Amino acid sequence: MSDTEKPAAPKNFIRAIVEDDLATNKWEGRVHTRFPPEPNGYLHIGHAKSICLNFGLARDYDGKCNLRFDDTNPLKEEVEYVDSIQEDVRWLGFTWDNRFFASDYFERIFECAVKLIEMGKAYVDSLSAEEIRQYRGTLKEPGRNSPFRERGVEENLDLFRRMRAGEFPDGAHVLRAKIDMASPNIVMRDPTLYRIRHAAHHRTGTNWCIYPMYDFTHCLSDSFEGITHSICTLEFENNRELYDWVLDTLGLYHPRQYEFARLNMTHVALSKRKLIKLVESGVVDGWDDPRMPTISGFRRRGYTPESIRDFCERIGVARSANVVDYALLEHCLREDLNARAPRVMGVLRPLKLTIVNYPEDQVEEFEFPYHPEDESQGSRKLPFCRDLWIERTDFMEDAPKKWFRLAPGKEVRLRYAYYVRCVEVVKDASGEVVEVRCEYDPATKGGWSDDGRKVKGTLHWLSARHAAPAEFRLYDHLFPAEGPSDEAEGDGLNLDSLEIVRGYVEPGLAQAEPGWRCQFERTGYFCADTRHSKPGAPVFNRTTGLRDSFAREMQKG
Ligand code: ATP
Ligand code: MG
Repeated sequence: MSDTEKPAAPKNFIRAIVEDDLATNKWEGRVHTRFPPEPNGYLHIGHAKSICLNFGLARDYDGKCNLRFDDTNPLKEEVEYVDSIQEDVRWLGFTWDNRFFASDYFERIFECAVKLIEMGKAYVDSLSAEEIRQYRGTLKEPGRNSPFRERGVEENLDLFRRMRAGEFPDGAHVLRAKIDMASPNIVMRDPTLYRIRHAAHHRTGTNWCIYPMYDFTHCLSDSFEGITHSICTLEFENNRELYDWVLDTLGLYHPRQYEFARLNMTHVALSKRKLIKLVESGVVDGWDDPRMPTISGFRRRGYTPESIRDFCERIGVARSANVVDYALLEHCLREDLNARAPRVMGVLRPLKLTIVNYPEDQVEEFEFPYHPEDESQGSRKLPFCRDLWIERTDFMEDAPKKWFRLAPGKEVRLRYAYYVRCVEVVKDASGEVVEVRCEYDPATKGGWSDDGRKVKGTLHWLSARHAAPAEFRLYDHLFPAEGPSDEAEGDGLNLDSLEIVRGYVEPGLAQAEPGWRCQFERTGYFCADTRHSKPGAPVFNRTTGLRDSFAREMQKG
């Protein structure tokens, strides 16, 4: 093999492990991962990191990846969440090989528990939750054995079966593994395997009133599915010993658990618990509010799946925790949209511009390409007449020296149309400018001049007689840079993070498809809102502005 043919070094430590395992044939050449969300909320951008990692391994190493719903807590789980999770994984561009629910395994998991009891490795404990906590000890002090720890196998089996049969109220008993109350790893101090919970489950209904705990369910589900690399976030590092204990004790097929650092990011909250509060309190317009760091929120905001995958690629996968700058995600988005989004005209805060020397009834058409670097996107013609809309922010009455846009006496270019010079300003009774009157130079047709006369400012515009009204929703960060604090509800949230303005778009966009993405020239990237945009009454979400603070920071070094 020549130097240039050398395979690239693995992109992260998990890929290095997988490549090593493939080289040594550890799993008979198999790579089988899973993404195991609990259906207790919508997925957020942190989950995207785990999705890209797990599905990406399957894709790149000819393996498989399961979608597994970790649905062992009936009180918090709902079908709506199951549906949204599937939609989000698909939208990100991934297809699961199998879809499973941990609840599919309830009978098998129960049998494993019975087996542990028979082996003398599990017992029914009748201490209260509070007592169990007290008996557990601390990092410095070992725990104490429960007085119920030495119950005989028969008594345990009888009690456990009666727990299942519904003879006891919630909290009366739990099933615990019998491991070591003095273990330096607190997870190993006789962890709870089952609890009583008289609650209907979204899939199993009222078939069960005992539910297995996460630590017991997870390793067994991985084992039943033949997972090879069970990848989770670092908080579960201490749980690995229990993962191994359960599978070794039961003598079951044994995947390996690996941990990586979860995604932390400025300006977001990546915890379903916190996000659910915002939804329930009505601070946001649902889980897919365009300010939410959920995958559905990013989608509604106008993010592309490609940009989120690119972001996950760039942040990498490591064991050391860090905080990623939100601006990196926006940078990935702009790169993608810059290459693809059609350029169109929209005036967000309209100001009337009248060309006093333009024939009253004349209408011309000017050709606008959709994309400056992509001819295949084609072009369209936009009407031009005496009455136009320009952006209010493109006019200033008392302009400073370096103002290149419109001001009294100044000449600017109307994009692809003509040069115009401001000759008069009209104000209302309160002194606000309501109209600017201009003269145009017919010799500058197309937006350039033969005599070499230069204008620095180029403005976008719309024919007021033809433009379609539109609503624009402009977003700011909902969360402060460091994320929300834990104390007061809604503490530190930017409640002014949504600004709604009403303006105009070019005629063809009145019928914009919900979800359609574009760049309004000079203004930013937008996406027609999937909930509120209607034919004839389009609503556009600003996905992001045009300025890339991340790229600028990178240049500065
Ligand atoms: P939350 O704290 O938001 O409730 P969770 O970890 O409880 O998240 P799960 O549904 O259990 O949510 O997560 C499914 C998978 O996504 C897990 O494997 C988990 O490790 C991973 N995951 C969750 N949050 C992040 C994150 N911020 N970065 C990377 N992976 C994450
Ligand atoms: Mg969880």
